[in-house]
Amino acid sequence: MRLTSSEPFWLVKNGIINSYPSISENIETDIVIVGAGITGSLIAHQCIADGFKTVIVDKREVCHGSTSATTSMLQYEIDKPLYELIDMIGEKAAVLSYKACFDSIDQLQQISKSIKSTCGFQKKKSLYFASRKKDVSWLQKEFESRKSHGFPVKWLEAETIEKDYQLEKSYGGILSDQGGSIDAFQLAHDLLYYNYKKGLQIFDKTDIISVEYRPYDVLIHTEFQKSIKAKKVIFCNGFESTDIIPEKIVDLLSTYAVVGEQNEDSHSHLENTLFWNTSDPYNYMRTTEDNRFLIGGEDEDFVDADKRDALLKKKADKLKKTMAKIFPKYHFRVDFGWAGTFGETKDGLPYIGKHADFKNAYFVLGFGGNGITFSAIGMHMVSAMLKGKTHELSEYFKFGR
Ligand SMILES: Cc1cc2nc3c(=O)[nH]c(=O)nc-3n(C[C@H](O)[C@H](O)[C@H](O)COP(=O)(O)OP(=O)(O)OC[C@H]3O[C@@H](n4cnc5c(N)ncnc54)[C@H](O)[C@@H]3O)c2cc1C
Repeated sequence: MRLTSSEPFWLVKNGIINSYPSISENIETDIVIVGAGITGSLIAHQCIADGFKTVIVDKREVCHGSTSATTSMLQYEIDKPLYELIDMIGEKAAVLSYKACFDSIDQLQQISKSIKSTCGFQKKKSLYFASRKKDVSWLQKEFESRKSHGFPVKWLEAETIEKDYQLEKSYGGILSDQGGSIDAFQLAHDLLYYNYKKGLQIFDKTDIISVEYRPYDVLIHTEFQKSIKAKKVIFCNGFESTDIIPEKIVDLLSTYAVVGEQNEDSHSHLENTLFWNTSDPYNYMRTTEDNRFLIGGEDEDFVDADKRDALLKKKADKLKKTMAKIFPKYHFRVDFGWAGTFGETKDGLPYIGKHADFKNAYFVLGFGGNGITFSAIGMHMVSAMLKGKTHELSEYFKFGR
């Protein structure tokens, strides 16, 4: 699977920050993590903090999967609105899931600070606006649901949105106090390097060919005829997990993003807020730390990489037009455009935990529009599971739910 088109902005901007060797000897360890994107890096950070001898392996250069393409808006809002999720899985499960995502934004801030990451974490507000009149009633219902469950939200009328953000084409929206943005590619690299210095063994360009799931451990065979024996394997292999998991757990899509040229004017009215709307597929927008504006969306329900990349120019033009409609006063000229794979689960929740078919294995699969917050939640869940404890979210994020 080609997870991204060739020019994701973060990859071009940052280049190859650190490169690691491929595997060259047989290894024995406590934990082996498959996949060194933002999820694997966070899980490795937790495993090292918990005192486990840990190895992380990636078949690409580290962080060259979806993590190089993400627009890295940190939002606690799950793909399903809270009121809808309550109807689907019950109030306790839905509210706990939303609260965990809410807390994980602060946790990501704390982690990036503690390792002195240069990922440019910024705390932001998040404005979810109705782009069609018919969406106002359910968006207000969502507002009431969030407010009644203690989430810090305000309802803004269209006139206020236009005045405060020079945002046209809205029919009102929910302004939430909790949100953030990072450069996830940089954070993942920083986490890997920080833990490498603490003993994390990292192998890139090392494909996993097969895994023997044995009664007391796993034996992983790599493409170089070198193996890794580990007490547990943790799969953080993103969308390519669909190659090994027998049942269908996620609908894979393609999504597109463009980032504009660096803008010399001040846009302080936009800098502190993430924007997303109720269009179907929805658009997501934010400024970057280097004073650009990015907009994503235009999802297609297929993942064929050639077909996806052939649409890049058309999709970039469309996103530019959407940008001009929403923010007509912003001078936007596309600098980079790219595409990537994206996934949606039936309830918007991730899959984190054990799978009956794979002994001594855990999965941390943070599918969805806010996959990064799910990856951070995975840290607590894996830490609890490795200690033999049950995490309060395990029931809601399990396979076969
Ligand atoms: C355009 C775009 C915009 C997005 N915007 C947002 C956003 O604003 N906010 C948000 O939270 N999320 C967003 N996402 C989703 C986000 O990018 C993902 O949730 C996140 O990057 C997933 O990280 P990961 O580490 O799980 O997966 P990946 O980064 O894909 O890492 C998985 C790794 O596993 C490795 N791997 C797979 N199979 C094997 C194997 N057999 N052997 C060895 N290694 C293997 C891969 O090489 C890869 O590096 C967006 C995604 C895209 C494409």
